[in-house]
Amino acid sequence: MGSLLASAAAAGDGTMQPPFGPAPPPLDGPELPSFRFPLGSLPTNTFNGGTAKQATVVEFPVSEKLAGVYMTLEPGALRELHWHANAAEWAYVIEGRCRVTTIDPQNQCEIVDFGPGDVWYFPRGHGHSIQGIGPGTCVFVLVFDNGYFSEFGTFSISDWLGHTPPEVLAKTFDLPQATFADFPKKEVYIATGPVPPPIAQEPAPGSLNAPPLTHRYQLLAQSPDVFAGGTMRTVSQAEFPISSTMTGALLIIKPGALRELHWHPNAAEWQLYLRGSARMAVFGSHGRARTDEFVAGDVGYVPQGYGHYIENTGSDDMEVVLVLNNATYESVSITAWMAANPDLLLATNFGVPEATFAKFPKNAVIMPD
Ligand code: MN
Ligand code: MN
Repeated sequence: MGSLLASAAAAGDGTMQPPFGPAPPPLDGPELPSFRFPLGSLPTNTFNGGTAKQATVVEFPVSEKLAGVYMTLEPGALRELHWHANAAEWAYVIEGRCRVTTIDPQNQCEIVDFGPGDVWYFPRGHGHSIQGIGPGTCVFVLVFDNGYFSEFGTFSISDWLGHTPPEVLAKTFDLPQATFADFPKKEVYIATGPVPPPIAQEPAPGSLNAPPLTHRYQLLAQSPDVFAGGTMRTVSQAEFPISSTMTGALLIIKPGALRELHWHPNAAEWQLYLRGSARMAVFGSHGRARTDEFVAGDVGYVPQGYGHYIENTGSDDMEVVLVLNNATYESVSITAWMAANPDLLLATNFGVPEATFAKFPKNAVIMPD
């Protein structure tokens, strides 16, 4: 435990990427830890042109497999060119519009605009930038498939060039050293500048050497799965081929309804509650169950394979975006599991009369009202 805390503390100063650690000690005890992290109510890191705040394993120790950053960019503000050495990046745009540029190892680039309800995915190590294009503030959540990731410890182009001798830059670009005299000497992180003009259509930038797979998926434009208690939109690799390590979903649960008891065999689940209020209970085996109450702005986390349900506790629709660290969506629901077994077996299992199960659902319910 001491070494985990030490590496977590080292990560917090933004100077190094910590290694993957052991399973978080909070899951080893007789009681489960809280699976809620109040990201929305924490102070924001303010930059010229934007804000960011994060929930990594440093802040939220149980979230070992996934981390998130809530970010805003004003029109023209640029989250500078950078890459992430140890995580892929998945994002959901909550408000406003932004433009993304990407490069892959084949030197193929895509430049594309995003609006509310759009998702992006950047494979681990691929270069990218994000710029607010207005009108208004662009708000989005970034999710990374590594809880030890730190958004403040990524690889930024200004940081790199600022720590490269001018004579090397001169050789690299075949230009005089003086060209780089006014370049920043440390990481810019967010830069401010003019709102760029609309993307040219003929030819669109990068379109002559475009990657085969687009980085954008318009999740909110997808027609959702509709249940008695709400709707679910899911974006796995099946819907969004470039998303090779993560699956996302947008759940809207009606007042009083719930996402029924279920578990994900192949993934941990990271959540950002967008509106309304909710209760999530997590079952962690060996008599351990933990219930937490969530409001908009809260982050939730479910370890891989742990049972859980989410209930809308408010009088309005509850909306949550969730991300799983696997490209294939796998979920087993309690109703489907029980329906798949004979009533006699269930009677024996629970020690109650077989007739008890006559009226149980015969299929998965997913989201009862
Ligand atoms: Mn990034
Ligand atoms: Mn789930």
